[in-house]
Amino acid sequence: MITVMKFGGTSVGSPEALKRVANIIANTEGEKVAVVSAMSGITNYLVSITDNPVADPEPIIKQFEDKHMMTAEQLFQGEALEAFKQDMEPRMENFRNAVFGDREDPFYKDNLTSQGERFSSLILAHVLKGMGIDSVALTSEEAGIAAEGNPLSGSANLKKTSTGMGIKVKPLLSMNITPIITGFYGANEEGKPLTFGRGGSDYSAAVVANAIDADVLEIWTDVDGFMSADPRIVPGVKKIDEMNFGEAAELAYFGAKVLHPRTIEPVRLKHIPLKVRNSFKPEEPGTLIHHLRKGNNDLLRSVASKTDLSIITISSAEIAYRPAMVGRIIEKIAEADVIIYSISTSLSTVAFLVHNNDVRTTLNKLNGLDVIDRIDVKNNVALICAVGDNLLEKSGVSGDIFSAVKDAGANVEMISEGASDVSLNFVVPMGKVIDVVKTLHAQFIGGVQ
Ligand code: ADP
Ligand code: ASP
Ligand code: MG
Repeated sequence: MITVMKFGGTSVGSPEALKRVANIIANTEGEKVAVVSAMSGITNYLVSITDNPVADPEPIIKQFEDKHMMTAEQLFQGEALEAFKQDMEPRMENFRNAVFGDREDPFYKDNLTSQGERFSSLILAHVLKGMGIDSVALTSEEAGIAAEGNPLSGSANLKKTSTGMGIKVKPLLSMNITPIITGFYGANEEGKPLTFGRGGSDYSAAVVANAIDADVLEIWTDVDGFMSADPRIVPGVKKIDEMNFGEAAELAYFGAKVLHPRTIEPVRLKHIPLKVRNSFKPEEPGTLIHHLRKGNNDLLRSVASKTDLSIITISSAEIAYRPAMVGRIIEKIAEADVIIYSISTSLSTVAFLVHNNDVRTTLNKLNGLDVIDRIDVKNNVALICAVGDNLLEKSGVSGDIFSAVKDAGANVEMISEGASDVSLNFVVPMGKVIDVVKTLHAQFIGGVQ
């Protein structure tokens, strides 16, 4: 039995939390691998350093070191503390090099923002050693996690990672050693850190589970499981006991922050079940996500929302009769590597939903096309993703949902129904998103409005 366990920022965010996590690992049977995030707040701190360079970074370096040393000093004494300090030294050297690195290097930000994971993993490995558990901290480079793609939005190369981890990690498991691996990034073709996007440690853990053919992936976080909505938006959310991969993937893609949007695919490929669990309540079973799920009669199971999107509407006479034209438009947007969250067409328009930050690049690309009559942009809209068992089968359900949206005082700006077999997605103005999610939850799931 091989278990891959991922611990998020809050789960490793303090000496007490780290002890709790070490106990969870110690109480897990069989071979296990842990993947960890940086301590909470650390990645945000590193991002702010990369975005706001200062003339003298020494105080920044000191503050970063102090944070980790203070945590270590509350966990280790005497020889154990000395041993930790020795292992910390080369990591601090590496951190310093990252801070003073070449800002023109396209992977400068990836290198600097991924530094936090190197320290949280080291501290956790030492806590486990102190408990008599044979454990080793490995960076993603050392573990063989291979990444490819553009800065700040890398993807794992599953084949290379599987080969790399087969050599570097599997032998440790058979020696009963527990590797603690850095989440969030892999090594690109040049061996440089390439991050998987914010929140990417969930994806790292799924990649590790895929690479070593794990029996289960456990995502340990700070809530009881996958909930019926974001608990920060809706009071009284319910925990979902069981979901299938498709449902979880749609919700994660459309904004349920509890899982990085790319977490599902690597485990789905190998039929590895995934559990979302609360590291502060290890006795709770959490949510099981796997291939099948018993159907029930919940009209709506969970609602997610993705904000900061824009609708780009392209008008051109009888565009519907010129499929090659639509093809060229999509090709142009794809050249800019822009993600299209939804598409809708009419006789003379085609509308795309993209992130606010991608509008400028998209418009620049489209400017070269002379057959376009007009382009309109509507900024600051949000996409709502509603997942439920009978959503698309039962007649009248979408009508009920849209009338609830009306009750929330919102206009539906764009709809995508039937594109996915588990979800109904539609766009509302961003200012209405909280009201809409709360109203849908109250009318179809229950709980306090
Ligand atoms: P971690 O640091 O463990 O990766 P995150 O903050 O990335 O934790 O994700 C967990 C958070 O996701 C929760 O605290 C919660 O606020 C938020 N969240 C959003 N949607 C959901 C949902 N549907 N179910 C559970 N949590 C959700
Ligand atoms: N530490 C990274 C972040 O905050 C990755 C993660 O936590 O998943 O984005
Ligand atoms: Mg996360």
